Amino acid sequence: MSLAGKVCLITGAAGGLGSATARRLAADGVRLVLTDVDGGRLAALAEDLPVETVVHAGDVSVEADVDAAVAAGVAAFGRIDLHHLNAGVPGPLVRLPELSVADWDRVLGINLRGAFLGVRAAFRQYEVQRSGGAIVLTASIASLRASDDLLAYHASKHGVLGLLKGAALYGGPIGVRVNAVAPGIVPTALFAGAGDGPGGGDDMARRAATTPLRRPGTGDEIASVVAFLLGEGAAYMTGETVSVDGGAAAVSTVRP
Ligand code: NAD
Repeated sequence: MSLAGKVCLITGAAGGLGSATARRLAADGVRLVLTDVDGGRLAALAEDLPVETVVHAGDVSVEADVDAAVAAGVAAFGRIDLHHLNAGVPGPLVRLPELSVADWDRVLGINLRGAFLGVRAAFRQYEVQRSGGAIVLTASIASLRASDDLLAYHASKHGVLGLLKGAALYGGPIGVRVNAVAPGIVPTALFAGAGDGPGGGDDMARRAATTPLRRPGTGDEIASVVAFLLGEGAAYMTGETVSVDGGAAAVSTVRP
């Protein structure tokens, strides 16, 4: 059941959830290809990991950058077995009439187009290798629910589930599994931009306290489910989205 010796590419690897997956997989003996727009933090992370690691600074919404990250991994390790396609940005917290086309395009470009480019590059490499593979996408509780003030983010993360299902159908017959984690609230830099206001860290902490488990999650708690989905323990799972949210998705907002 061990992932030791496999090669995994992680996008958004310098961030809270991506770096947690990197540390978790490194502890399991997985060699890593780490990519993010923030090359400085990537390099610092790689120095701290106990496995062979390749870093590639690039933007997940830029086709050439995505393909170059895969090429860098293949040049170093000869293959890539696993992908955690995780990079994402929060949407602007605005009312629908104020949502700009520029913000819509930016959020959809990184969260959905970026996921598509990552999935496509993964499949192209898996088809060369002819040995199957596994992909985990980072969806969100925002893939399953909506609010009226975060439309671009919800649309992008709902779109990730459509991508996931289509890719799982394509991948099944060739031995490629595609699943997703849907985190709830995990304190990371994702919320830093909103400061102390709605959607910021304090607001998220208050919201996390109302979930069934009454607390936010940790990066490690998401990473352990990513590792499970990438591994043989999940050999009969594909097209699935696993909520890792302290029970938040189980709560009905409409009481019977
Ligand atoms: P984070 O901000 O700590 O990490 C995101 C990383 O993505 C950063 O390192 C950033 O530099 C990188 N990134 C941003 N734009 C990029 C681009 N265009 N190309 C490449 N890299 C880019 O946030 P996080 O919480 O670790 O978020 C990771 C994923 O988890 C995102 O997809 C996010 O939507 C999702 N998510 C997070 C939470 C949460 O509570 N933190 C909940 C649900 C879903």
